[in-house]
Amino acid sequence: MSRVYLTGAGPGDIELLTMKAHRVITEADVIIYDRLANPEILEMTKDGCEFVYVGKEDGRHTLPQEEINEVIYQNALKHNVVVRLKGGDPFVFGRGGEEGAYLHERGVKFEIIPGITSAVSVPAYAGIPVTHRGIAVSFRVVTGHESPNKKESQIAWENFKTDDTIVFLMGLHNLSKISSKLIEVGKPEDYPCAVISRGTTKDQSVVVGTLGDIVQKAEGVPTPALIIVGKVVTLRKQLDWFHH
Ligand code: SAH
Repeated sequence: MSRVYLTGAGPGDIELLTMKAHRVITEADVIIYDRLANPEILEMTKDGCEFVYVGKEDGRHTLPQEEINEVIYQNALKHNVVVRLKGGDPFVFGRGGEEGAYLHERGVKFEIIPGITSAVSVPAYAGIPVTHRGIAVSFRVVTGHESPNKKESQIAWENFKTDDTIVFLMGLHNLSKISSKLIEVGKPEDYPCAVISRGTTKDQSVVVGTLGDIVQKAEGVPTPALIIVGKVVTLRKQLDWFHH
């Protein structure tokens, strides 16, 4: 009986892979993967393991999600150990839920292997804690993919007035719209924020600024990158620990 593992690959640093993810990767008959922050993971596989790339290039899906679901299912019919590998955590903007539901409907057994999400670990490698006593009592992880100017937005922008930390994933191309929108709903222009690119890897870069100047400062920063907005960003002065 075949089993599909919907597996988080972590944010990039290979040592942030979980032991469970490592085990199923070494046992895999086939790995179905996205563009990974660390392709070295694919070198851990056993001889004869097959590879199927279904990732995104420059934000464009190579395959629509429906087809990815079907690729996973078809591989489950052929192989015993199918590893569907995703960056970070499979359930944090990873569409792992859709893949699990598709398999469930077809009677295929699957397991979820959570991964270390970039939303928390990438700020940590930049010396920015997502919560901090007296500074931020909560944090939100928000899609930056949706344009803030979209009519009938699903994002409650008016709730972002507080000092809770906001992490935007997939938002670099909307950075200017996001920062303008946050100023529009009442955050000051000098409110701290940062853009962190290729976090936890040797190519990590961190741009610290304010809502008013981050667009200019972060120009040309490579993807993948996330945006973090909050007073916690100022803690980087004391907590920046990651030097290559
Ligand atoms: N499931 C993933 C997120 C998928 S959405 C997770 O839990 O981390 C993809 C987005 O994640 C990217 O657009 C970027 O905003 C962020 N991201 C992923 N890896 C990153 C990295 N190493 N550095 C900075 N941002 C990263």
